[in-house]
Amino acid sequence: MIPGPNLIYKCPQCGRKVSRVSIVSGNTIGATMYSDGKMIAPMLPDFPYIIKCKDCDAFYRLNDENKIGEFERWGDKNMFNTRDLYWAGFLSLDEYIEAIDLKIYNSVSEEQYLRRGLWWAFNDKYREGADVALNDEDRAVYESNCARLIEILDKDKIDERIMCAELYRNLGKYTECKNILETINDKRYGQTIELLIKECEKNNNRVILLRE
Ligand SMILES: [Zn+2]
Repeated sequence: MIPGPNLIYKCPQCGRKVSRVSIVSGNTIGATMYSDGKMIAPMLPDFPYIIKCKDCDAFYRLNDENKIGEFERWGDKNMFNTRDLYWAGFLSLDEYIEAIDLKIYNSVSEEQYLRRGLWWAFNDKYREGADVALNDEDRAVYESNCARLIEILDKDKIDERIMCAELYRNLGKYTECKNILETINDKRYGQTIELLIKECEKNNNRVILLRE
């Protein structure tokens, strides 16, 4: 992995500055891949896009509009007082719910970003194989989020169609899951499809590890 400069952004509401790292190039060596599409790759880190300001609670985007500069990791930091910066982090499960309730998204892809983040945040509870049950309220949020994500994903893209199948499996709708998987003939996905069908046959609706 070749690291890039640290990028600096400013909250459009209160002006608080945040920073995040960037990379010039990365790879998937040592990556862990899960059935819901989440990948944990030490050499290809994922970066937050929509964040919540720690000072004023505004949701905003780490995009060009809010970017105010950058500094090299080992270069001149003097143009920014780095003590004023905090690292931008991903939204928490509750913050994803809040952002979706407030409808802060401006496009289908932003709604997908938030709902996929919420789905993954719930699945994080099971990712390490823990056996925790969601309470009724959380289950209702989880299920309605999965259902809406199925609606807004682009079924013409194979990756998103597999994601729909996995969402159906997570909802315990194994027939719907298998029906979608059977429409995919791409050999590159053969192993994934086989694994997901096996889990359907076991009536397992939890996220699974695909490969390490
Ligand atoms: Zn702010």
